[in-house]
Amino acid sequence: MKTPRPNCSRRDVLRWGATATAAICTRRIALATAPAAPSPAFRPTLLDQVQYAQVDLDPGPAQQQFVQCQQVLLNLSDDGLLRPFRFREEMPTPGDELGGWYSTDGFAAACPFGQWISALARMYAVTHDPATYAKIDRMIRGYAATLEPRGKFYQNYAFPGYIYDKLSIGLTDAHVFAHHPTALDVLARSTDIALPYLPPKAMPHQESPILAGENFTRHVWDETYTMPENQFLAWQRTGNPRYRNLAQRFIFHEYFDPLSRGENALPGRHAYSHVNALGSAATAYLALGDEKYLRAATNAFDFIQQQSYATGGWGPREHFIEPGSGALGESLNSVHASFETPCGAYAHFKLARYLLRITANPRYGDSMEQVFFNTVLGARPLELDGSSFYYSDYTFKAKRTYFGAKWPCCSGTLPQIAADYRISAYFCSQRGVYVNLYLPSTLRWNAPGAQFSLRQTTAYPYDSQICLDVTASTPAEFSVFLRIPAWARGASLTTNGMRDSRHLEAGTFAEIRRQWKNGDRIELDLPFATRLQAVDAQHPDVMALVTGPLVLMALRDGDAALEPVSRNALLAADQTTAQAHEWIAGSENRPGLGSGANALRLRPFVDLGDAPYTTYLTVVTG
Ligand SMILES: [Zn+2]
Repeated sequence: MKTPRPNCSRRDVLRWGATATAAICTRRIALATAPAAPSPAFRPTLLDQVQYAQVDLDPGPAQQQFVQCQQVLLNLSDDGLLRPFRFREEMPTPGDELGGWYSTDGFAAACPFGQWISALARMYAVTHDPATYAKIDRMIRGYAATLEPRGKFYQNYAFPGYIYDKLSIGLTDAHVFAHHPTALDVLARSTDIALPYLPPKAMPHQESPILAGENFTRHVWDETYTMPENQFLAWQRTGNPRYRNLAQRFIFHEYFDPLSRGENALPGRHAYSHVNALGSAATAYLALGDEKYLRAATNAFDFIQQQSYATGGWGPREHFIEPGSGALGESLNSVHASFETPCGAYAHFKLARYLLRITANPRYGDSMEQVFFNTVLGARPLELDGSSFYYSDYTFKAKRTYFGAKWPCCSGTLPQIAADYRISAYFCSQRGVYVNLYLPSTLRWNAPGAQFSLRQTTAYPYDSQICLDVTASTPAEFSVFLRIPAWARGASLTTNGMRDSRHLEAGTFAEIRRQWKNGDRIELDLPFATRLQAVDAQHPDVMALVTGPLVLMALRDGDAALEPVSRNALLAADQTTAQAHEWIAGSENRPGLGSGANALRLRPFVDLGDAPYTTYLTVVTG
């Protein structure tokens, strides 16, 4: 049973944001929003990113995550945030520790500090909230006061590359998105201080040379191989070749070279950080123009897809497995650390966004949608005491729980990705606008003498209907591109009620080009094929139920695993009327779920609440 059609009523009043001044396709949008600075040219991409301020999200899980993250960051104690920096510099340390990994003696002291500045800067670009700017300003000024030339902070610090990488993106984002006046100066001083503590090149995990002046045996879990992306961005945004040189110094050749040749260099590697590193392959391609890096990124994306769960998550125990080994299926028995969700989704989104912009291939959008609805959108909310969602659990006896320690790495990436949903939902080109993610929202843009918006109304992913309303201050010709997911057979659309007679091929962007005028409406239907997806070839009977973009997870009673389930009963699962976000498989009228079970309740990850669940079921014929 489907939920009712969405209410397609158009807003009466347009909400033109104060910064909605960019044309829809301003090349190099990041530079366009920055104060005057030299502008090294990255390669142009087929699609461009929109600006954060151009997209409004309607109330719903995505906007709720954005607001929750913003509120937590705004309410963090300034003294607590600065305490590890002050302590290591032997300065007075008023206030309390934040606790957990963040603390002075924590596993990764102060590591998310730069990510939180980054997230707040992106959030400021959306909201122009004075309190958000004030927080960014206090964090940067407080941190700058701890910088002294000896760089005591880094002495005996386990993750110099990691924290410098995050500080780099935080300070460049503060410059670009919040126009903070000293952020780039602070970045320059931070770089001076960090450099003596960085290895000469990207260091693989567990490699530990002892070099003059610094014992790198302490850094066996550092992630210096992720650094080029943010250094290339710092170069793009400042024009200072120092950052380009640093980026080139840390390019992870021994990872990218085999990937560029089509050799799978993933198995055995730490999963999140090596997907994060692929953002460096994409930016190396954009900054240096060498196709080798693009091949590395696209090939790696294919290899990741080959070892992903039905949710789009990957990396049981935080590591890539050997494809064809059956390890993914075996992980379902006992590996509760199935997918490092906020960090993994953040890295996955960045990689897919780069590749979508470069290639315009909607398969990257399909992948973002899969990861969005089935993993990170269902992360438990970040809380002010540091409670953070870390692992999605895909075992047969799974629960959706917080991580044991406070303020882990994933508390740094969740606010960043929550800010980035906007720039992941829409893209633009010289021909028009691309709708990549289907969620209730509005895209606004200006052209010379004219203002436009595209308002998306939908109950997707619970309903297959999507309604898009155009507002236009003057008629104009442009294209609206709609992503037709690879699973969407029989998709159809109408414009102003007129059926589009074209066959909408799954796995493409459908282009609608016309003279658009105020009040035009597009209605798109993406029929939700229901299908079963095996965890891997070695476990062909262990399957997840998928409908449209959603994995439906089966609820369990207590601690028991579920009995084998009939294939036909699963495929006939219906969305209930009483609770629209729940499906029922089997009933008294349609038995076949195995011994002792008359009906199976299934929910998407976002809607699990506290219920014990399983992502995969053993499926039997019939
Ligand atoms: Zn993490």
